Amino acid sequence: MSDKTMDQRPILELRDITRSFREGEGALRILRGASLQIRPGEIVALIGPSGAGKSTLLHIAGLLERPDEGMVLLGGIDCVDLPDRERTYMRRAELGFVYQAHNLLPEFNALENVAMPELIAGTPKQDAFAEATRLLTLLGLGERLLHLPTELSGGEQQRVAIARALANHPRVLLADEPTGNLDPKTSKMVFEELIHLVRREGLAALIATHNLDLAAKMDRALVLHEGKLVEGRPAQAKPAIKTPTADPDEDQDPPRAPFA
Ligand code: ADP
Repeated sequence: MSDKTMDQRPILELRDITRSFREGEGALRILRGASLQIRPGEIVALIGPSGAGKSTLLHIAGLLERPDEGMVLLGGIDCVDLPDRERTYMRRAELGFVYQAHNLLPEFNALENVAMPELIAGTPKQDAFAEATRLLTLLGLGERLLHLPTELSGGEQQRVAIARALANHPRVLLADEPTGNLDPKTSKMVFEELIHLVRREGLAALIATHNLDLAAKMDRALVLHEGKLVEGRPAQAKPAIKTPTADPDEDQDPPRAPFA
Protein backbone atom coordinates (compact mmCIF):
# COMPACT_ATOMS: atom_id res chain seq x y z
CA MET A 1 0.00 0.00 0.00
CA SER A 2 1.45 3.36 -1.01
CA ASP A 3 1.78 6.41 1.20
CA LYS A 4 -1.00 7.95 -0.87
CA THR A 5 -3.34 5.13 0.06
CA MET A 6 -2.49 5.42 3.74
CA ASP A 7 -3.54 9.05 3.75
CA GLN A 8 -7.15 9.02 4.87
CA ARG A 9 -8.05 12.63 4.22
CA PRO A 10 -10.37 12.90 1.23
CA ILE A 11 -8.51 13.31 -2.01
CA LEU A 12 -11.69 14.53 -3.72
CA GLU A 13 -14.47 16.36 -1.98
CA LEU A 14 -17.54 18.09 -3.37
CA ARG A 15 -19.48 20.35 -1.02
CA ASP A 16 -23.04 21.45 -1.75
CA ILE A 17 -22.65 21.64 -5.48
CA THR A 18 -25.46 23.30 -7.41
CA ARG A 19 -25.77 23.59 -11.17
CA SER A 20 -28.66 24.75 -13.31
CA PHE A 21 -29.06 25.05 -17.05
CA ARG A 22 -31.26 27.55 -18.79
CA GLU A 23 -34.40 26.08 -20.24
CA GLY A 24 -36.48 28.63 -22.12
CA GLU A 25 -37.51 31.25 -19.59
CA GLY A 26 -36.77 29.02 -16.63
CA ALA A 27 -33.91 26.98 -15.23
CA LEU A 28 -33.34 23.26 -15.15
CA ARG A 29 -31.91 22.60 -11.69
CA ILE A 30 -29.75 19.53 -12.19
CA LEU A 31 -27.54 19.51 -9.08
CA ARG A 32 -29.14 20.77 -5.88
CA GLY A 33 -26.55 20.49 -3.16
CA ALA A 34 -24.57 17.40 -4.16
CA SER A 35 -21.77 16.47 -1.75
CA LEU A 36 -19.29 13.61 -1.62
CA GLN A 37 -15.95 12.63 -0.14
CA ILE A 38 -13.62 10.09 -1.72
CA ARG A 39 -10.50 8.91 0.08
CA PRO A 40 -7.29 7.66 -1.51
CA GLY A 41 -7.72 4.13 -2.82
CA GLU A 42 -11.53 4.22 -2.73
CA ILE A 43 -13.50 3.24 -5.81
CA VAL A 44 -16.96 4.74 -5.83
CA ALA A 45 -19.79 4.11 -8.26
CA LEU A 46 -21.91 7.05 -9.37
CA ILE A 47 -25.32 5.77 -10.32
CA GLY A 48 -28.53 7.39 -11.41
CA PRO A 49 -30.85 7.33 -14.40
CA SER A 50 -29.96 8.95 -17.67
CA GLY A 51 -30.37 12.71 -17.35
CA ALA A 52 -29.86 12.69 -13.56
CA GLY A 53 -26.71 14.80 -13.89
CA LYS A 54 -23.88 12.25 -13.63
CA SER A 55 -21.86 13.74 -16.50
CA THR A 56 -22.46 17.25 -15.19
CA LEU A 57 -21.19 16.19 -11.77
CA LEU A 58 -18.12 14.49 -13.29
CA HIS A 59 -17.33 17.58 -15.37
CA ILE A 60 -17.50 19.73 -12.26
CA ALA A 61 -15.39 17.27 -10.23
CA GLY A 62 -12.95 17.15 -13.16
CA LEU A 63 -12.56 20.95 -13.24
CA LEU A 64 -13.95 21.05 -16.77
CA GLU A 65 -16.92 23.16 -15.65
CA ARG A 66 -17.58 25.36 -12.66
CA PRO A 67 -20.59 24.83 -10.42
CA ASP A 68 -23.04 27.68 -9.73
CA GLU A 69 -22.29 27.22 -6.03
CA GLY A 70 -20.29 24.88 -3.85
CA MET A 71 -16.72 23.71 -3.43
CA VAL A 72 -14.57 21.22 -5.33
CA LEU A 73 -11.61 20.24 -3.17
CA LEU A 74 -8.75 18.28 -4.65
CA GLY A 75 -6.24 17.25 -2.02
CA GLY A 76 -7.88 19.81 0.28
CA ILE A 77 -7.55 22.72 -2.18
CA ASP A 78 -10.77 24.38 -3.31
CA CYS A 79 -10.39 24.67 -7.07
CA VAL A 80 -13.64 26.45 -7.95
CA ASP A 81 -12.32 29.99 -7.83
CA LEU A 82 -8.79 29.26 -8.99
CA PRO A 83 -7.82 30.97 -12.24
CA ASP A 84 -8.19 28.82 -15.35
CA ARG A 85 -4.47 28.24 -15.65
CA GLU A 86 -4.26 26.79 -12.13
CA ARG A 87 -7.35 24.67 -12.69
CA THR A 88 -5.67 23.25 -15.79
CA TYR A 89 -2.54 22.55 -13.77
CA MET A 90 -4.56 20.76 -11.04
CA ARG A 91 -6.43 18.78 -13.66
CA ARG A 92 -3.20 17.64 -15.33
CA ALA A 93 -1.49 16.88 -12.04
CA GLU A 94 -4.26 15.11 -10.17
CA LEU A 95 -6.92 13.78 -12.53
CA GLY A 96 -7.38 11.16 -15.21
CA PHE A 97 -10.50 10.80 -17.35
CA VAL A 98 -12.09 7.93 -19.20
CA TYR A 99 -15.10 8.65 -21.35
CA GLN A 100 -17.65 6.37 -22.96
CA ALA A 101 -16.17 7.09 -26.39
CA HIS A 102 -12.44 6.54 -26.38
CA ASN A 103 -11.55 9.56 -28.58
CA LEU A 104 -8.26 8.03 -29.68
CA LEU A 105 -6.30 9.88 -32.36
CA PRO A 106 -6.81 7.71 -35.46
CA GLU A 107 -3.47 8.43 -37.11
CA PHE A 108 -1.40 7.47 -34.05
CA ASN A 109 -0.70 4.00 -32.69
CA ALA A 110 -1.63 2.77 -29.21
CA LEU A 111 1.70 3.71 -27.67
CA GLU A 112 1.62 7.22 -29.17
CA ASN A 113 -1.98 7.76 -28.09
CA VAL A 114 -1.11 6.97 -24.47
CA ALA A 115 2.15 8.92 -24.45
CA MET A 116 0.86 11.97 -26.35
CA PRO A 117 -0.68 13.99 -23.48
CA GLU A 118 2.48 13.48 -21.46
CA LEU A 119 4.71 14.53 -24.34
CA ILE A 120 2.62 17.66 -24.81
CA ALA A 121 2.92 18.37 -21.06
CA GLY A 122 6.72 18.22 -21.39
CA THR A 123 7.57 14.73 -20.10
CA PRO A 124 10.79 13.47 -21.73
CA LYS A 125 10.07 11.15 -24.66
CA GLN A 126 11.79 8.14 -23.14
CA ASP A 127 9.85 8.42 -19.87
CA ALA A 128 6.50 8.98 -21.59
CA PHE A 129 6.96 5.93 -23.83
CA ALA A 130 8.25 3.76 -20.96
CA GLU A 131 5.16 4.58 -18.86
CA ALA A 132 2.82 4.08 -21.83
CA THR A 133 4.42 0.68 -22.48
CA ARG A 134 4.08 -0.31 -18.81
CA LEU A 135 0.39 0.60 -18.65
CA LEU A 136 -0.53 -0.97 -21.98
CA THR A 137 1.30 -4.14 -20.99
CA LEU A 138 -0.58 -4.26 -17.67
CA LEU A 139 -3.79 -4.04 -19.69
CA GLY A 140 -2.75 -6.97 -21.87
CA LEU A 141 -1.81 -4.89 -24.91
CA GLY A 142 1.93 -5.53 -24.83
CA GLU A 143 1.68 -7.14 -28.28
CA ARG A 144 -0.44 -4.32 -29.71
CA LEU A 145 1.68 -1.28 -28.92
CA LEU A 146 2.18 -0.28 -32.54
CA HIS A 147 -1.36 -0.93 -33.74
CA LEU A 148 -3.52 1.93 -34.95
CA PRO A 149 -6.94 2.33 -33.30
CA THR A 150 -8.64 0.87 -36.40
CA GLU A 151 -6.49 -2.25 -35.97
CA LEU A 152 -7.79 -2.78 -32.44
CA SER A 153 -11.10 -4.20 -31.19
CA GLY A 154 -13.54 -1.98 -29.27
CA GLY A 155 -12.40 -3.44 -25.96
CA GLU A 156 -8.75 -2.92 -26.87
CA GLN A 157 -9.42 0.68 -27.91
CA GLN A 158 -11.05 1.36 -24.55
CA ARG A 159 -8.06 -0.24 -22.77
CA VAL A 160 -5.83 2.23 -24.60
CA ALA A 161 -8.07 5.06 -23.38
CA ILE A 162 -7.74 3.73 -19.82
CA ALA A 163 -3.95 3.62 -20.12
CA ARG A 164 -3.99 7.19 -21.47
CA ALA A 165 -6.04 8.35 -18.47
CA LEU A 166 -3.48 6.90 -16.06
CA ALA A 167 -0.32 8.02 -17.86
CA ASN A 168 0.00 11.27 -15.88
CA HIS A 169 -0.02 9.36 -12.55
CA PRO A 170 -3.26 10.96 -11.40
CA ARG A 171 -4.49 10.57 -7.85
CA VAL A 172 -8.13 10.48 -8.94
CA LEU A 173 -9.69 8.73 -11.90
CA LEU A 174 -13.03 10.00 -13.17
CA ALA A 175 -14.88 7.79 -15.61
CA ASP A 176 -18.18 8.37 -17.39
CA GLU A 177 -19.77 5.07 -18.44
CA PRO A 178 -16.29 3.83 -19.38
CA THR A 179 -17.49 0.56 -20.87
CA GLY A 180 -20.91 1.76 -22.00
CA ASN A 181 -20.13 1.34 -25.70
CA LEU A 182 -18.96 -2.26 -25.41
CA ASP A 183 -20.94 -5.49 -25.64
CA PRO A 184 -21.84 -6.92 -22.20
CA LYS A 185 -19.11 -9.57 -22.12
CA THR A 186 -16.32 -7.21 -23.22
CA SER A 187 -17.71 -4.50 -20.95
CA LYS A 188 -17.43 -6.80 -17.93
CA MET A 189 -13.89 -7.82 -18.84
CA VAL A 190 -12.59 -4.30 -19.51
CA PHE A 191 -14.35 -3.02 -16.41
CA GLU A 192 -12.71 -5.65 -14.22
CA GLU A 193 -9.32 -4.74 -15.69
CA LEU A 194 -10.00 -1.07 -15.00
CA ILE A 195 -10.87 -1.78 -11.36
CA HIS A 196 -7.85 -4.06 -10.99
CA LEU A 197 -5.52 -1.42 -12.39
CA VAL A 198 -7.02 1.39 -10.31
CA ARG A 199 -6.53 -0.72 -7.16
CA ARG A 200 -3.04 -1.74 -8.16
CA GLU A 201 -2.02 1.88 -8.72
CA GLY A 202 -3.71 2.95 -5.47
CA LEU A 203 -5.96 5.57 -7.07
CA ALA A 204 -9.28 6.93 -5.96
CA ALA A 205 -11.99 6.63 -8.59
CA LEU A 206 -15.48 7.94 -9.24
CA ILE A 207 -17.08 5.90 -11.99
CA ALA A 208 -20.51 6.64 -13.46
CA THR A 209 -22.42 3.62 -14.62
CA HIS A 210 -26.01 2.58 -14.88
CA ASN A 211 -25.01 -1.06 -14.79
CA LEU A 212 -25.71 -2.15 -11.22
CA ASP A 213 -23.67 -5.35 -11.57
CA LEU A 214 -20.62 -3.25 -12.39
CA ALA A 215 -21.45 -0.79 -9.61
CA ALA A 216 -21.55 -3.67 -7.13
CA LYS A 217 -17.87 -4.39 -7.84
CA MET A 218 -16.86 -1.03 -6.39
CA ASP A 219 -16.27 -0.17 -2.75
CA ARG A 220 -19.48 1.80 -2.43
CA ALA A 221 -22.06 3.56 -4.52
CA LEU A 222 -23.50 7.04 -4.54
CA VAL A 223 -26.89 7.52 -6.11
CA LEU A 224 -27.67 10.83 -7.76
CA HIS A 225 -31.27 11.40 -6.81
CA GLU A 226 -33.09 14.69 -7.26
CA GLY A 227 -29.83 16.57 -7.53
CA LYS A 228 -28.24 15.19 -4.38
CA LEU A 229 -25.97 12.26 -3.67
CA VAL A 230 -27.08 9.56 -1.31
CA GLU A 231 -25.20 6.45 -0.24
CA GLY A 232 -26.53 3.36 -1.96
CA ARG A 233 -25.94 -0.33 -2.02
CA PRO A 234 -26.32 -1.20 -5.68
CA ALA A 235 -26.47 -4.96 -5.26
CA GLN A 236 -29.39 -4.66 -2.86
CA ALA A 237 -31.07 -1.83 -4.73
CA LYS A 238 -31.49 -4.04 -7.78
CA PRO A 239 -34.88 -5.62 -6.99
CA ALA A 240 -36.34 -2.14 -6.61
CA ILE A 241 -36.00 -1.70 -10.38
CA LYS A 242 -38.73 -4.20 -11.04
CA THR A 243 -42.08 -2.52 -11.06
CA PRO A 244 -45.20 -4.18 -12.47
CA THR A 245 -45.01 -1.91 -15.53
CA ALA A 246 -41.24 -1.99 -15.99
CA ASP A 247 -39.95 -2.90 -19.41
CA PRO A 248 -37.75 -6.01 -18.97
CA ASP A 249 -35.31 -4.55 -21.49
CA GLU A 250 -34.66 -1.71 -19.10
CA ASP A 251 -33.27 -4.13 -16.58
CA GLN A 252 -30.01 -2.15 -16.35
CA ASP A 253 -31.59 1.12 -15.31
CA PRO A 254 -31.19 2.07 -11.68
CA PRO A 255 -34.16 2.81 -9.46
CA ARG A 256 -35.42 6.38 -9.51
CA ALA A 257 -35.96 6.42 -5.77
CA PRO A 258 -33.87 3.60 -4.35
CA PHE A 259 -34.52 4.55 -0.76
CA ALA A 260 -38.23 5.21 -1.03
P1 ADP B 1 -26.46 12.01 -17.08
O1 ADP B 1 -24.97 11.98 -17.28
O2 ADP B 1 -26.88 11.52 -15.73
O3 ADP B 1 -27.21 11.32 -18.17
P2 ADP B 1 -26.21 14.83 -17.73
O4 ADP B 1 -25.33 15.44 -16.70
O5 ADP B 1 -25.60 14.53 -19.05
O6 ADP B 1 -26.93 13.55 -17.12
O7 ADP B 1 -27.43 15.80 -18.01
C1 ADP B 1 -28.34 16.18 -16.98
C2 ADP B 1 -29.36 17.11 -17.57
O8 ADP B 1 -28.77 18.38 -17.82
C3 ADP B 1 -29.96 16.66 -18.89
O9 ADP B 1 -31.34 16.98 -18.87
C4 ADP B 1 -29.21 17.46 -19.90
O10 ADP B 1 -30.00 17.68 -21.06
C5 ADP B 1 -28.96 18.75 -19.17
N1 ADP B 1 -27.73 19.42 -19.62
C6 ADP B 1 -26.47 18.93 -19.51
N2 ADP B 1 -25.57 19.80 -20.01
C7 ADP B 1 -26.28 20.87 -20.45
C8 ADP B 1 -25.93 22.12 -21.07
N3 ADP B 1 -24.66 22.45 -21.30
N4 ADP B 1 -26.94 22.97 -21.38
C9 ADP B 1 -28.21 22.66 -21.11
N5 ADP B 1 -28.61 21.52 -20.53
C10 ADP B 1 -27.67 20.62 -20.20
